[in-house]
Amino acid sequence: AIELVGVNKWFGDFHVLKDIDLTVGAGQKVVICGPSGSGKSTVVRCINRLEKHQKGTIRVNGTELRGDAQTIAAIRSEVGMVFQQFNLFPHLTVLDNLMLGPVKARGLTRAEAEKTARHYLARVHIPDQADKYPGQLSGGQQQRVAIARSLCMEPRVLLFDEPTSALDPEMISEVLDVMIELALDGMTMVVVTHEMGFARKVADQMVFMDAGEIVERGAPEEVFAAPKSDRCRKFLSQIL
Ligand code: ATP
Ligand code: MG
Repeated sequence: AIELVGVNKWFGDFHVLKDIDLTVGAGQKVVICGPSGSGKSTVVRCINRLEKHQKGTIRVNGTELRGDAQTIAAIRSEVGMVFQQFNLFPHLTVLDNLMLGPVKARGLTRAEAEKTARHYLARVHIPDQADKYPGQLSGGQQQRVAIARSLCMEPRVLLFDEPTSALDPEMISEVLDVMIELALDGMTMVVVTHEMGFARKVADQMVFMDAGEIVERGAPEEVFAAPKSDRCRKFLSQIL
């Protein structure tokens, strides 16, 4: 589970996160939406310490996120992240991209890492792409490799930051379908996305952020049917 209580962050003088409270129970899925610059990426980046919050507490599976290397390593071993830009190593094959983390960080043998990699490649429905280089794959396939790479680290929580925003429209659904399968399998997920169909299908909680604040939250059907704030209503009317 993930717990944020009174989390605040500043970039210099700029107050980017204002008293963020957010609880994601084990197996729950939270979808975060909101306008550009509202702080969505910053929230998820704070959860695995790609950014540092300055006030409030963040706990992941009971461990409070503090500055020491041990805590950060412990949290990163349990929290995977999938980015808008897939961040695969272009000079490594798909299989080598997937094996790198398990061999280096989890101490698996190459044989064990390859077995794990092939297992998760099958799970994202591209078992036959193992020997290709990222540049030889479509965007949708590259993002599924990136998801498989996260899964190879056996995380307990997956964070997604606009995983389909860089994709051509015809490739969005193949990535969302994999994410829906993960959700139904019980993965704990925090997903920044404007794909409201995905939110409707899997989210336990929808969170709408604006200007560094959580302005509104609730079950997706409630938020879609009757947004309480003008800001949320206006935002939803622009994207739906
Ligand atoms: P988008 O939908 O465009 O991805 P977002 O909701 O993810 O937006 P963030 O990336 O979290 O927004 O950024 C929130 C605000 O913080 C923005 O105004 C951004 O310019 C600012 N910001 C983000 N990263 C930094 C940084 N490293 N230094 C200074 N300001 C930053
Ligand atoms: Mg962002």
